[in-house]
Amino acid sequence: MKDCTISKYSTEALKIIDDFLPEKLFDAHMHISHLNTASCSYTTFQNYYDDIKVYSKNRIVRCNGIVFPEAQLKNPAEMDNSVKFVCSQLDKYTDNVAEIMVLATDTVADIEKRLVHKNIRGLKCYCIYAKRPDNMYANIEEYLPEAAWVVANEKKLAITLHLVKDEALSHPNNLNYIIKMAKKYPDAILILAHAARAFAAWTVFDVVDKLVPYENVWFDFSAICESPAMLYILKKIGAKRCMWGTDYPICLFDGKAVSIADKFHWIPAADLNFNTWNIMTEGFMAMRQTAILADLNKSQIEDIFYNNANKLFFR
Ligand SMILES: [Zn+2]
Repeated sequence: MKDCTISKYSTEALKIIDDFLPEKLFDAHMHISHLNTASCSYTTFQNYYDDIKVYSKNRIVRCNGIVFPEAQLKNPAEMDNSVKFVCSQLDKYTDNVAEIMVLATDTVADIEKRLVHKNIRGLKCYCIYAKRPDNMYANIEEYLPEAAWVVANEKKLAITLHLVKDEALSHPNNLNYIIKMAKKYPDAILILAHAARAFAAWTVFDVVDKLVPYENVWFDFSAICESPAMLYILKKIGAKRCMWGTDYPICLFDGKAVSIADKFHWIPAADLNFNTWNIMTEGFMAMRQTAILADLNKSQIEDIFYNNANKLFFR
């Protein structure tokens, strides 16, 4: 785990964040993992609490612990280990919830047999499980099986979806699929991760409007480092279907994602000759900017940081 020191984030930024944050936090998108890999080391809720303490201080912090997507989970034994690990974490942190992984080929029975803890309240899918080498261009149905919708609809679970394709939500295949499935499975709540992966902010402009009628389509703002996409979504969708998230432990890396041309770019700290912040700090600052620009009141801020996630995962 990366070292978290106050000097790294600057005491001034921490004070601004502390003044902004409400009393209770519910992180709708953070990761836990039983695996040690190049992309994510073994990560527990306790690691998270140790690292977020510098921001959260004495606040209550609850989490949705999403299994980190790793290729190893295609192995049934590793999938079992992942579910066991999730259960052990939920037994230790009884106020938290979790999302287990679903694979492209999963059946309803495959998914149901992983729902072995009452606080497993969601399903996570990811493009690396699509059967194609260029999985960053996969259609959603290539990595999110319809079985996941069937189960989520029946058991009132969430599905966290990280869109791919350069155009993200503005790609017609993505948008049309979301509308079709949201209509067909009204009791499943679809969470569009990273503000519908709007690291390139333009991808939600005009398009999010089409999701307004679908009350089971929600957004988490994890890892978004700039305000425009969040501001646009809040303006169109309102504050009741948007949630704060960190994408922990990814958020411990220094740097920032910015919209540039018709793409987005992750600026690594190593490219800059001044002290930078980590993605978590950038995320908090961008949320604060958004709240100011959107004129959010205290109760709307409390909804985004706590109440909405609490309502969604404990329906
Ligand atoms: Zn994530």
